[in-house]
Amino acid sequence: MTAIAQPWIAGQWTPVESGALAESVNPSTGQVLGRFADAGTAEAQAAIAAARRAFLHTDWAHAPRLRAAVMLEFADRVERRSQELALLLANETGKLLKPAQAEIAGTISEIRFYAGLARTIFGRTTEVEPGALSVLSREAAGVAGIIVPWNAAAILLVRSLAPAMAAGCASVVKLAPQAALFQTELMRCLNDIPALPPGVVNFYGCTSSAPSEALVASSDVDVISFTGSVPVGQRIMAAAAGSLKRLNLELGGKAPAVVFGDVDVEALAPQLAAAATVAAGQQCTALDRVLVHESVLHPLRDALARQFRAMRVGPATASDSQMGPLIDVGNRDRIDRLVEDCRRYGEVIVRGQVPGGELAHGAFIGPSLVEVGDLQSPIVQEEFFGPVLNLETFADEAQAVARANATRYGLAASVWTRDGARARRVARALRSGTVWINTHNKLLAEAETGGYGASGFGRLHGAEALLEFLETKHVYEEVGRVAPGD
Ligand code: NAD
Repeated sequence: MTAIAQPWIAGQWTPVESGALAESVNPSTGQVLGRFADAGTAEAQAAIAAARRAFLHTDWAHAPRLRAAVMLEFADRVERRSQELALLLANETGKLLKPAQAEIAGTISEIRFYAGLARTIFGRTTEVEPGALSVLSREAAGVAGIIVPWNAAAILLVRSLAPAMAAGCASVVKLAPQAALFQTELMRCLNDIPALPPGVVNFYGCTSSAPSEALVASSDVDVISFTGSVPVGQRIMAAAAGSLKRLNLELGGKAPAVVFGDVDVEALAPQLAAAATVAAGQQCTALDRVLVHESVLHPLRDALARQFRAMRVGPATASDSQMGPLIDVGNRDRIDRLVEDCRRYGEVIVRGQVPGGELAHGAFIGPSLVEVGDLQSPIVQEEFFGPVLNLETFADEAQAVARANATRYGLAASVWTRDGARARRVARALRSGTVWINTHNKLLAEAETGGYGASGFGRLHGAEALLEFLETKHVYEEVGRVAPGD
């Protein structure tokens, strides 16, 4: 790793004009992990100009085999550095080492998936009348602005960048400030591949919103692919109106699990506890609400409470940690206040504590289990983005579906039952981009994810992600018919 992570613009490490530096902190220890150059609008504009030039003046958009070869090399380089990258991901974002290793493996798989798809972008031709041909082809949309969060810092970057590259776009990536060191190292695996034309991929990290806003406002950026919170997504949508650019918004969630009375409660509780505490609850699809049939409320509540009380909270790189820290102490304190506030609406069954001793320097808080039935309460309606799980009950299937659909979000949900027909019936009725049956949080390169409602629009992962970065062109020509011979 370089001492100071720099922007990469037009094929060069580029010092920022202002000379400003920002720190990235290890949330397990509270110590500064490293520094990155804090880009401003000058760097954003230079990156946009470089991407525009590369899009218009290189063969990139016309060369699917080149794109596939570059991406395969990218994946190989990430694979060679996977242990070192996983460790940096754990140290910078607090993700436990094993899930960090799994994320790097998923990232490699995702890049290879889109490298394959780069060579499958076909159009179609139809003869609409005798001798009249309509040719429909897919073309790269242009320059893609990619704005990503820190919470799955590898996969979320690659699930936008890889389909953008496969489609033939040039990209400007705005790194997350909390993961700028890791994301710079991940991108280093790509940016010095000799076959990659300079300017096709550019990136910078920054702490202020101005360089991101420049990306959104620029008429030289054709598509924004944004992953992040609802309020920032709303700001981006408003700011994009001026240049009428295309948007792909992957926003927050409030994932419910609908648990019917025929489940094996003891087997289920550890799975639900794991789904709620993955990345210390800081995953858009993490389980936030358990809607349980009233017949099994008491045993499930007891089993979940045991799981939460027994959970070992500790540093991301310690082998016995079951849950790591939040991203920073500000978020730890925010979660602490939100859990306390739940008492106004219902019962706090397990109160996650801020630990003392060595862990006091980090952003740690234990997991909380609460029981709040009020559908209007914050624990039901707001994304907490932390390790807090709410228990709610239902009497029948219709009530379960109505409760599950009672928030503005629609990102992910799960249904738990041994009755297959009921599972699929309920899955169909849930207003959610992803529904898992008897599992939670299975995310795959091959399967599209995205939101209903306030969770955003567009799809990433899967073949459909390419559509976010492609235009469809119609070319019509009356070529006539060869005169029939004898
Ligand atoms: P955030 O919205 O605060 O930030 C996301 C990115 O936007 C960051 O890079 C940030 O620097 C940038 N940004 C901030 N202000 C901006 C502005 N005015 N204009 C343009 N960009 C701006 O989110 P976060 O805290 O980094 O991430 C957590 C959020 O992301 C949660 O809400 C989570 O649910 C969501 N998320 C969604 C998905 C999904 O697939 N739907 C996946 C992961 C995370």
